[in-house]
Amino acid sequence: MRIDILTALPRLLDSYFNESILQRARQKGLAEVHVHDLREFSADKHKRVDDYPFGGGAGMVMTIAPIHKAITWLKEQRHYDEVIYMSPDGELLDQPLVNRMSSLGNIIILCGHYKGVDERVRRHLVDREVSIGNYVLSGGELPAAVLSDALIRLLPGVLGDETSALSDSFQDGLVAPPAYTRPEVYGEWKVPEVLLSGHAARIHDWRHQQSLERTRERRPGLLGENDPA
Ligand code: SAH
Repeated sequence: MRIDILTALPRLLDSYFNESILQRARQKGLAEVHVHDLREFSADKHKRVDDYPFGGGAGMVMTIAPIHKAITWLKEQRHYDEVIYMSPDGELLDQPLVNRMSSLGNIIILCGHYKGVDERVRRHLVDREVSIGNYVLSGGELPAAVLSDALIRLLPGVLGDETSALSDSFQDGLVAPPAYTRPEVYGEWKVPEVLLSGHAARIHDWRHQQSLERTRERRPGLLGENDPA
């Protein structure tokens, strides 16, 4: 998978993609992430990428030209499956959406800033809009990093243990069971006996039971039950 991120603040993203599993995925050649500075595509002598809104009102709007130029430049070099705009009113990101998107090859992710982007960008240059939740952040960089992380960790070979993404919350429609590690006893707090039993079938059943209980408690919607009011 190759992800090209368009942003007016590229430095915000550097450290995130240069650490942890995302860096490993890049080093193993499983994922490529390229961050591009939209200002480099601005024809303005001050490299501006925003302007005042027509009709007045507070806040600046990102202009279409640098975004159009950047997308065109990228598309001249390779095929892209989707251009995605991170937006609070987009499709809500959840695990089923991440799973579906993880089969994409090359994608462009556009980060907005200020009051967002000129509506013509959304209408004519973008294929999909994704929101990471019903709240508003000051820029699309964190949302782009959230989406990229969720996608990249699903790529085969990225997580050390191949099966571990499958046992995460939401993958089987349930939240994950509790996990414990050493020591077996910490003060008065003990690890559940069954996990120490070495009995694979019992452990499997216990985990499944715990997942069900937690899902019922925390995310009844996943079981088709109504959320507690
Ligand atoms: N005026 C816009 C908000 C702009 S916030 C509105 O009310 O919808 C500035 C930028 O941050 C957006 O263009 C978007 O790229 C990003 N952003 C903010 N919150 C987000 C969220 N919940 N999900 C995805 N992107 C978000």
